[in-house]
Amino acid sequence: MRPELQPESEPSPSRAIWRGLAKRCPRCGEGRLIDGFYRVRTRCDRCDWLFEREVGDHLGIIYISTAIQTATFAAVVLWIQPSSPWTARILLGAAALGLMLLNLPNRKGLAVAIDYLSERNRDKSP
Ligand SMILES: [Zn+2]
Repeated sequence: MRPELQPESEPSPSRAIWRGLAKRCPRCGEGRLIDGFYRVRTRCDRCDWLFEREVGDHLGIIYISTAIQTATFAAVVLWIQPSSPWTARILLGAAALGLMLLNLPNRKGLAVAIDYLSERNRDKSP
């Protein structure tokens, strides 16, 4: 059971995405989305929105965002042509891994926001 929000209080898609990236509930913007460093909470503690209906709901978006970041760093490694290629590759690899770990909670928030928007649109369709 989820309490109904008034239609005028439902966020715009861009606002819902922004809230997710900020690790807040995409629906109400008040509830915390993440427990600890990266674990998605089951429900919003403010509006009771179910963040993850099934285990693995958000893996596709996490996978795609990881692939995009990996491709970006690979392109940078190929583009910069440093004097010491192995040192640069190791440093960029470590930087890429660190960045991906640091922004994992934000990417999970993005995944929850996209899931919220698709679920909201499905509820509105006839
Ligand atoms: Zn909420």
